[in-house]
Amino acid sequence: MTVLSNWIGGSFMSAGNVEKLDVYCPLDGQVIAQVPLCHETHVDQAVQAARAAFPAWSALPIKERAQVFYAYRNLLMEHEEELADLVRQENGKTLDEARAEVKKSIEVTEFACALPQLAAGEVMEVSRGVECRTDHLPLGVVACITPFNFPNMVPNWTIPNALCLGNTMVLKPSELVPLSALRLADLLHQAGLPDGVFNVVHGGRAVVESICDHPGIDAVTFVGSTKVAKLVYARATSHLKRALALGGAKNHLIVLPDAHPEMTATNVAASMSGCAGQRCMAASAMVGVGDVEHIVDGVVQEARKVVPGMNLGAVISAEAKARIERYINEAEEQGAVIKLDGRNAHVPGFDGGYYVGPTVIDHVKPDMAVAREEIFGPVLSIIRADNVDEAIKIENANPYGNAAAVFTQSGGMADYVRERASAGMFGVNIGVPVPREPFSFGGWNESKFGVGDITGKSSIEFFTKLKKTTRKWNPEARTNWMS
Ligand code: NAD
Repeated sequence: MTVLSNWIGGSFMSAGNVEKLDVYCPLDGQVIAQVPLCHETHVDQAVQAARAAFPAWSALPIKERAQVFYAYRNLLMEHEEELADLVRQENGKTLDEARAEVKKSIEVTEFACALPQLAAGEVMEVSRGVECRTDHLPLGVVACITPFNFPNMVPNWTIPNALCLGNTMVLKPSELVPLSALRLADLLHQAGLPDGVFNVVHGGRAVVESICDHPGIDAVTFVGSTKVAKLVYARATSHLKRALALGGAKNHLIVLPDAHPEMTATNVAASMSGCAGQRCMAASAMVGVGDVEHIVDGVVQEARKVVPGMNLGAVISAEAKARIERYINEAEEQGAVIKLDGRNAHVPGFDGGYYVGPTVIDHVKPDMAVAREEIFGPVLSIIRADNVDEAIKIENANPYGNAAAVFTQSGGMADYVRERASAGMFGVNIGVPVPREPFSFGGWNESKFGVGDITGKSSIEFFTKLKKTTRKWNPEARTNWMS
């Protein structure tokens, strides 16, 4: 059985004699590797390597650093199929979903290639012979902690931008999906990234806590559940680090009776079932306003076409499967109507896999757990509302704020809901309203802690500090009221 190593200073480094965790392929429940549960000594090794690499890397002009990401982007393209297959094996999503994930990594990397233009400073003659200029300077060593649901894409939300802007990095991937991160390290190496600029340390809570506490780390990004996002944000900022922590979600799609039936049904079904519902942008609750019976029927019909083992992957673990099924059982006991039941799903030939079929639960009351809590599985809770204001009230009452959407053919109603929904990313007739580059990704409320977003133009502010210079060379330039 392969025991994974850390990636430190440009090569694999064994974690030594530490506890190991089995890594399962969710598709069949087979063990595919063992991941070491590292601790503060390993974090320190990685930080030392990242600090040593920082002076030379940050001194390069940004246009030179960007060359590495042109090469990296081409390598991602060249290895797209292999990278997608690795994601499929460790995460359990379908190959098509894994390909889409790698495509998004490529798009983010292309954005990083444009950073020399986008992160250029400004210059202005503010009075005769006196000039002000700004420069975006790197912070130093940044640490990024990532979740299980996008082993390739979420690390790439930060890798190209943070590094192209001149930082060096320690990545702590989810211990459930540690393989893709190492492959990315290898491709970065092939792309010409100098040793030590990018490092990977495996593990769980102990590594995360050491990252938050380590004095050699300047900034921390986190993507994962809200519970851990809060802990990481509080701990990292208590050590005066810059931090951005993205948390969980409970995304509400508001469906009005005039919505295009087919378009709505396909979008809602794809949103709730894609990646087995394990997307922070997935539809979790549909709020049907007034008479939407025909649309509910359409959603069930579309969801029925999503079949485990064919166009639906597995959920991440046996525990996740049990948790999701518990939510469905509880809703049924409380009187909700199970219109499509994905419990006890089984894929012939993949007996050990963790499958849950698409599940549609109708007549859910807003106080039920399936309406309030993040389920993170292919489960849609349908809540009925008499009018649009009641629907907005239900959406607003949920503590998260990653995404929301409205389905309608009325531009006026779409704007009415858009202005009142309490979510950072909003869709009009779109079930997964992920902003494409250069637009940034980030939610509101309990879905994000910290200022700014993790990708797009917003990431320039997060990963750099601004130096403001005022200068004059002309001795004749007179002093004035300010300069
Ligand atoms: P998680 O919070 O369990 O784990 C995320 C990371 O935190 C992992 O690297 C893990 O090792 C570490 N971790 C886990 N428990 C910890 C603890 N007690 N102390 C310190 N570190 C700990 O999340 P997950 O299950 O891997 O991912 C699913 C969650 O991520 C969902 O809630 C989903 O909504 C969220 N997510 C959010 C976004 C977003 O952009 N907002 C994107 C993807 C996933």
